[in-house]
Parts: sequence; structure tokens; C-alpha cells
Amino acid sequence: MTIPELPPEETEPKERVAHPFRTLRELVDFVSGKSLPPAEPEEGLRTEALPFPFLAIVGQKEMKLALLLGLINPSVGGILLVGPRGTAKTTAVRSLLDILPKVERSLCYYGCLPEDIETGGMDAVCPDCAKKYAEGQPLSAPDRVRLIELPLNARLEDVVGGIDPLSAGAGERAVVHERLRVRRGILAQADRNLLYIDEINLLADDIVDAILDAAAQGSYTVRRGPISATYHARFVLVGSMNPEEGCLRPQILDRFGLRVIVRGLDDLAERLEAYRRVQAYLANPRGMAVTYGEETLAAAEEIQSARTQLPKVILPDKVAKPAIKLVQKMGIHSLRAEISWFEAARAYAAADGRDKVAPEDLQAVAPMTLRLRRSLFMAEYFRSQEREEDEMNTLLDSLKRIK
Ligand SMILES: [Zn+2]
Repeated sequence: MTIPELPPEETEPKERVAHPFRTLRELVDFVSGKSLPPAEPEEGLRTEALPFPFLAIVGQKEMKLALLLGLINPSVGGILLVGPRGTAKTTAVRSLLDILPKVERSLCYYGCLPEDIETGGMDAVCPDCAKKYAEGQPLSAPDRVRLIELPLNARLEDVVGGIDPLSAGAGERAVVHERLRVRRGILAQADRNLLYIDEINLLADDIVDAILDAAAQGSYTVRRGPISATYHARFVLVGSMNPEEGCLRPQILDRFGLRVIVRGLDDLAERLEAYRRVQAYLANPRGMAVTYGEETLAAAEEIQSARTQLPKVILPDKVAKPAIKLVQKMGIHSLRAEISWFEAARAYAAADGRDKVAPEDLQAVAPMTLRLRRSLFMAEYFRSQEREEDEMNTLLDSLKRIK
């Protein structure tokens, strides 16, 4: 049951050992064409415990690529998936569970890390961690990136944290431990993780603003009277929205680095294959996980090594300059366009094991970073501004002639 349009080398399993793909694109191409053995139904399984394998999602190459780039380089600045319902957006995000890389996770409630001390000195961490650091104790340990989903009914208090009602009235003891009275919010839990917001266009403005501010700064402070606490919140934001159900404010749209338009599958064979895989998964989720186990493991390793490679990847001026010109020619004003573009291209090159961004890398990720950036309003605004400027200069010229 192979999708016919794939080139023949993609379906040669003999060549593939531990790492069946050399690049991210090969990975995405390869997994889109894997064939499945017929599924044997298994009884008594909880399907929600095992996500649909990422590598089993048919088609949707750009969405898969964007999500992988986000895992490799959190600096791409978040991923927005735009499309109608039933196009596997949420399935794709949840399916990342098995390929999430490892990060150094803070052992502290406030998310302190040794690198905070390296960049900001002892004041950058909490007193407990400063003491631990001085004693040579570790502040962090390796841990898998987690997928945090923002519940649809989340309140601002859940997102940023609040006063813990259990300890708020605890008198003197609470004053001694006053920092502990502030409850960690979802944003603090999302630190160094993936934060997924389904239907982000339906979320209240104040919540979206709090999330975007925290994402931009990498931290946030909660103040309740005399009590305050600062939390790290360095996360990859993944949002999805169905444009039929309301649009997104332009300033929110601008904050998302990668934008993917997710459409339903066009190809008949792909649609049928997608159906077969969903059916196989529902009948036997564990069997499905086993079928894709080897590639899933290889993909996870691939992502991890790309993350290690990433700091070494440079962007030469001669590659960057024409790209900036192109952004200007497109009439895009936001600096975030080229930031996301360049960071995505670095991730792409890192996934290919290289240490220099090539024009091809920029090309591969350009559409997802540059689309939906142009503002018709701003274009019209600048045009009318120019007209005004011209009129004013003409009038000023006539003033000169009076003398
Ligand atoms: Zn700490």
C-alpha cells in the first residue's frame, strides 16, 4: 500500500539501518510513504495513552517539517497551524510525544538553571539554587521535553499562577515561605517544553497576551500584593486555529514564526491511505506504535543530534543579505519575518548535519516563515502617507518661491 508518487529509493528498506534518513526532508518524505501491514484488533486498550505515530501521518509535509524545526530550534518562534477541522493538526502535535528531544531540566520550583548563573550571576537564580551551586550540587538533570496542552477553559489565573488558597492564610509561617504561596501556572510548567493551544483564535485576549509576552521574554513575574515570583517560561508555542471560527488579531499572528496552511489531502490514494492508518491505529494502537517503532526511534535521535549541531550553524552575510532584500521587496515590515526565516533555515541545515546555512535551506523554509506577513492595511497606510508627504513638499516649494 505504497503511495505511487514517491521516488523508488524512498521505498527501499534494505538501505535503511539505524538512521534511515539523512535529512529532515528525507525523513518527512520517507514516513509519508511507509506501507502498513493489516491491523489485528486488540482488546482492552486505552487508545489515548498511545499517540498516533508522527511518522504515520499521511502527507501534510509542511506541517510535519514545521513541527520538527520547532523541536530542533525553539528560536523559530512558535508554530501556527491554520486549517479546517479534521486535517490532523491536533493529531500531529500530540504525535510528537514519541520524538521529543531531551533537555536539561531544572530541579528547582522556579526553573533555575546553571546557565542562568553563567549569564546573569548568582542573582539570576533563587537563594536555594545559589547555595546548591556554590556547594557544587547539580541544578538540573536531563529530561524529555513535555507536551503541555492549554485547556480550552483555562483562566488567566491558571495560566500565570495565583495565590495558593491553602497557604494564603497561614500567618507568620507563610511570610517566611512567602514565595511558595504563589502557585505555579501553566506557563511555568511549560518551561523548556512544548505548549499547545488548540483553537487559539477562540482564547480570551488577556490570556493570549500573557502567553505571548512570556514566550517573547522567556520569563514572567507574578505579583500579588507584597508577594512576587519570577518564573522561567521558555517554551515552543504551537497554536492551531480554524479560520472559519474567527480570525486572529494581526499582532498575534505576527508573533508566530512558522505559519502552515493545513489543507485536506487532495490525492485520492493519500486519503485512502490516511483512512487505513487511522483505522489500523484505532483497532490496535500498540501494534501501530510497534510498526513505526524503529523509525520513530531514529527520528528522535535525528532531532537530538540536530539540536546538538544547531549552535555550530552559522548564517553567512552573503546568504543573509539577499534574503533580507527579498523580505523588503515583499513589503514585509516585521523584523520577525527574517528572524524566524533564518532560525528555521539554521535548524534545517543542522538537521542535515551542516554548519553553514545555504541558500537552499532558506528556500526550503521560506513559505512557512514569510506567508501571512504582508499587511494590506500597512501598505495602504504608507501609500497615503507618501501622498501626504508629496503634497506637503509641493506646498513647501511654493512657499520658497514667494521670496
Ligand atoms: Zn532555584
